[in-house]
Amino acid sequence: MSRPPRQINQDLFTRGGIITEIDPDFCIVRLRMPAGMMTPAQMKGIGEIAERHGVETLHLTTRQTVELPHVDPSKLDGLLDDLAANGTPLGAEREEVVNVTACLGTRHCKFGIIDSVGLAEKIDKKFFGKELPVKVRIAISSCPNGCESERLNEIGITGIQRPIRDPGLCTGCGTCTHYCREKAIEVQDGLVVVEANKCMECGFCIKPCPFHIIRGTDPEYRITIGGHRGRHPKIGRHFIDVKSQEDVIRVIDKVIYWIYRQASSGLLLPEQLDELDFDEFKKSIVKMIEG
Ligand code: SF4
Ligand code: SF4
Ligand code: SF4
Repeated sequence: MSRPPRQINQDLFTRGGIITEIDPDFCIVRLRMPAGMMTPAQMKGIGEIAERHGVETLHLTTRQTVELPHVDPSKLDGLLDDLAANGTPLGAEREEVVNVTACLGTRHCKFGIIDSVGLAEKIDKKFFGKELPVKVRIAISSCPNGCESERLNEIGITGIQRPIRDPGLCTGCGTCTHYCREKAIEVQDGLVVVEANKCMECGFCIKPCPFHIIRGTDPEYRITIGGHRGRHPKIGRHFIDVKSQEDVIRVIDKVIYWIYRQASSGLLLPEQLDELDFDEFKKSIVKMIEG
């Protein structure tokens, strides 16, 4: 016997975080959770809300958020109110800026160079859910280890730090060379030499120097544009290095403005950038930033 049709508020399906399920009588609800951070109370709250609304399982996504599968669409209103009150509101998945991801960075990782979580929260606050002709994923890794695969996102941000050597003071002990995974730093005739074309600017050689001879430059933010994973993975291209979180926001603002004005729907951003002269694209954004 077929099921009677449900009374569904179709407007809800125009909202990004609600995804049609294989069984069209149900949907998946995706949450907004910048950097995948939540308090124990919020996590407990999601569990309690899910139970209260008859959701039997939860799913942790690749974009550091939580999905509630198999939700009865006629009960969405109450569920969404409860989730919003829990500080874990409805997310996004359409042609818009979706959940911003980040590693723990300087808050907890010993390799961290930038506060990736704080930056994700700022980016979320300003850009999350902005409707665009194409989906825009933003990810942040606090160091070039790239745990967030940020370069496989339309906008990627990587924390970088360059070593500054002082040839006059190096003892030539070689400790720093041991910590460099790229074999980019060598001791030559008792002096330490960095090969710029091999150096990933991870800063890993800075702290271990027992004589505090290698200094680090101030942390910087490397922005890549046009990455993508999925069916046709692509590594984003280096766009610009900037010195502060405010500069990152400024660059993203202009890139998103460009996407809003110039990109077309139906084609992924990396494919659209392939059809352009990337240097010209870059120049036009830099001009907007400077203007
Ligand atoms: S990307 Fe770097 S800072 Fe971030 S979690 Fe990985 S190792 Fe740590
Ligand atoms: S910054 Fe990283 S890649 Fe560059 S020399 Fe130091 S350890 Fe090697
Ligand atoms: S660890 Fe310090 S002192 Fe030793 S070789 Fe490297 S820079 Fe020189």
